[in-house]
Amino acid sequence: MRYIYQAVERIPKPLSKGVVYHSEEFEVGALLCACGCGHRVSLLVPDSHQITSEGGMATVRPSIAVCDAPCKSHYHIRAGRVEWLPAFSDAMAVSVMRGQIARHAVCDAKRQSWGSRVRVAVARAYNKLRSMLRI
Ligand SMILES: [Zn+2]
Repeated sequence: MRYIYQAVERIPKPLSKGVVYHSEEFEVGALLCACGCGHRVSLLVPDSHQITSEGGMATVRPSIAVCDAPCKSHYHIRAGRVEWLPAFSDAMAVSVMRGQIARHAVCDAKRQSWGSRVRVAVARAYNKLRSMLRI
């Protein structure tokens, strides 16, 4: 089986086999697990994975580790081709999940600091305006 790349606005509810869906707007990707177990694999783009099209075929980086399904599959998708990697042990799966959660925490912190910078800038502009108008 080969995976084609499909850009979508929203990830459809029933996924088709052999399609990597990518929604740039919602920063997510989705595909049906390559092992055929029917598990819906969700990817956070670009937080955890990058999805690109190579002549219409999907490339996903880095490898996909299915931690939340019994198959525990682990594979690369390169130009639509699935390359199998050794299955993750439970301990490795846990550490990957932890890594992904940690990355999210970092992302949220960045977002927060950006928000507070905006607030400081708005307050500064407001104070300047106030001093100009002497109110
Ligand atoms: Zn599977």
